[in-house]
Amino acid sequence: MTTSKTKQTPTAPLAFEIRESKLSGKGAFAIRPIKKAERLIEYVGERIPHPVADERYDDDTMEEHHTFLFTVSSRTVIDATHGGNESRFINHSCDPNCETEIEKGRVYIFALRDIKVGEELAYDYGYERSGDETEKEERQYRCLCGTAKCRGSIMEPIAEYQKRVRAKQRALAKKRAAAQKKAKRKVKPKSKAKPKPKTKAQRRTTGRRARS
Ligand SMILES: [Zn+2]
Repeated sequence: MTTSKTKQTPTAPLAFEIRESKLSGKGAFAIRPIKKAERLIEYVGERIPHPVADERYDDDTMEEHHTFLFTVSSRTVIDATHGGNESRFINHSCDPNCETEIEKGRVYIFALRDIKVGEELAYDYGYERSGDETEKEERQYRCLCGTAKCRGSIMEPIAEYQKRVRAKQRALAKKRAAAQKKAKRKVKPKSKAKPKPKTKAQRRTTGRRARS
């Protein structure tokens, strides 16, 4: 309805409306049939670094999580409390009909399947765990979605967290090994001794790298 120019590109009318939800506070409900893979809305808001988000919202003083934060990357969080749109009212479900996708730093919400008129839209928040969640935090992030697949938390499944930790450890080990290799190579030219001819074993271990 507005004629003033906005930063956002004009979009088609929303496929959903915001009203009271049984899940939590307000929710988004389909007002027309939605097709699988349809892009429904962009998750917008103020883009801030993680430390600023931590400053703004202190889990210790909150009884229940009620922030509209979306982690885009290791650097950026979108805070939809400021400059957010209807997307911030889409609730969490452990068996969701929507999903989010990040494209070039922007977050969009898509339909995971066909959605009927009147159905509540939801996606899996899957908040990243830090591994040291207190009982209070578990309470704050408990899930009441009531689906058969409910894992009891809007935080990511613990198995997923563990998988991420293992991947991180593997990446770190790889990085360390590469750094050690590099350090060794750097040291070599300093010693004036002639490089010894490579043994077959040595050539095998470095061969893959040299050829590429
Ligand atoms: Zn649930």
